[in-house]
Amino acid sequence: MDLANRTKTLTPSATLAITAMAKELKASGVDVIGLGAGEPDFNTPDHIIEAAYQALLNGKTKYTATGGIEELKRAVCDKLLKDQGLTYETSEIIVTNGAKHALYTLFQALLNEGDEVIVIAPYWVSYTEQIKLAGGVPVIIETTEENEFKLTASQLEGAVTSKTKAIIINSPSNPTGMCYSERELLEIGSICLKHNITIVSDEIYEKLVYDGQKHVSIAQLSEELKQITVIINGLSKAYSMTGWRIGYAAGNKELIKQMTSIASHSTSNPTTPSQYGALAAFNGPQDVVEEMRIQFEKRLNMFHEALVNIPGFTCLKPKGAFYLFPNVKEAAKLCGYSTVDEFAKALLSEAHVAVVPGAGFGAPDYIRVSYATSEADLIEAAKRIKNFVEEKM
Ligand code: PLP
Repeated sequence: MDLANRTKTLTPSATLAITAMAKELKASGVDVIGLGAGEPDFNTPDHIIEAAYQALLNGKTKYTATGGIEELKRAVCDKLLKDQGLTYETSEIIVTNGAKHALYTLFQALLNEGDEVIVIAPYWVSYTEQIKLAGGVPVIIETTEENEFKLTASQLEGAVTSKTKAIIINSPSNPTGMCYSERELLEIGSICLKHNITIVSDEIYEKLVYDGQKHVSIAQLSEELKQITVIINGLSKAYSMTGWRIGYAAGNKELIKQMTSIASHSTSNPTTPSQYGALAAFNGPQDVVEEMRIQFEKRLNMFHEALVNIPGFTCLKPKGAFYLFPNVKEAAKLCGYSTVDEFAKALLSEAHVAVVPGAGFGAPDYIRVSYATSEADLIEAAKRIKNFVEEKM
């Protein structure tokens, strides 16, 4: 079949691919430990499930307004005010089928053919593909471990052209777990203001920050920055609601209107009972979020220490999200592999540990491991990887 050209440059999601391979092995009876997943291992809190169930029983089984029910948009506004001190009208909010679809619709609404979007590597796998699907051009800026994988102001200045339309900032970052400070965001923000660059601020890991840090949204740093920023967020990670598919965007009213129009022709609305679950998540007790965060931090400390003790592994300590992003180039070499991809494949087939090779994130010397899995599994995974490397050396 002669398929559309846009499919020809599309790279399938590296994270979903490894998860699928691990599931296949597991189904065939192999005891695989999956460190590939990008989702919390906790179940969604009961009161959220109960709210969705009650909504279904009460007939909330029909289409809703495309951009989400008004109460949920209001709850998003309340959240942004409470957490970030930001004031939005409900007309500046769209509720979407996950943050992924908020980003997808955003690029569809924002980009013309050839518009450039600055993407900071290592980056989340879907950014580049979504930009390309919208006719845009991802402009990748490489960062260094020495600078905690963060973009510097001079790097940004050097990458701006007359076609630069937007930049994506993902703090805390998937895959590196790094977070931008207020000062760093102000520096980046002033360049964006100077060149009229839209800031896409993906804050999906906002609630998962460690070591006493606090998340900062670039939109909260000044009214001018708020005007050029679109906040992307969702409930998947904070409330362990990945399968519910609820995300949102907050930003310029005209942009949100056009995104809603695009959604009206593609998804119609975010799933109705999920919206009622999300409403309960926002309006219900927030200690459930903190309880999960504490668990993640405990695992991070334990797993980071275990990984840096593996020969050939070096790893910055993340400040947020639930991933570690070790450099394993040396480990791959010690084991006789010429690429980290081959090393990762062998880890899965021989040590039965699924990790995601860094190439999909624009960082081929690294692997991403998720610690959104039980402590026992993390201990066992670290042991298996260490034994694997030591035996091959
Ligand atoms: N942004 C980042 C950086 C992510 O890691 C993810 C999920 O892995 C998303 C957005 C999308 O999340 P969802 O569509 O589940 O809301």
